[in-house]
Amino acid sequence: MATQRPVRVMDPFAREFWEYAEKKELRMQKCGECKKLRWPAAAVCDKCLSSEYSWEQLSGKGQVLSWIVFHRQYFPEYPAPHPAVAVELAEGPIFVCCMPPEFEGKDLADALPMELTWLDAEDRFGEYNLPVFKPAGK
Ligand SMILES: [Zn+2]
Repeated sequence: MATQRPVRVMDPFAREFWEYAEKKELRMQKCGECKKLRWPAAAVCDKCLSSEYSWEQLSGKGQVLSWIVFHRQYFPEYPAPHPAVAVELAEGPIFVCCMPPEFEGKDLADALPMELTWLDAEDRFGEYNLPVFKPAGK
């Protein structure tokens, strides 16, 4: 059963991102001019202002850049302890996410290898696959 999550921000570009997530494909927009990966999804490139892009599939690999463990519950959907981790993706962008519920954040360390996994989630737009990262091989 899908876990209720805070409502996603939804615009035409985010909608395309979530359509790929439906197929468990983590993709980001790649600028058609300067080739920079655009995250979060947006109408124009923040480097060269081009509106051209394609959706680049990512490797699902990265490493811990930073993290925090919340010991107080702020959202009913995220009981404490609740880690939030900034993952530097192998392709460069920084992806901030939660972790699967079995991870309390105790094992996180600087530059720890991380890998993509998916959580069953639901909000007012319906059920969806939420991309998150966990320690590689765990
Ligand atoms: Zn660009």
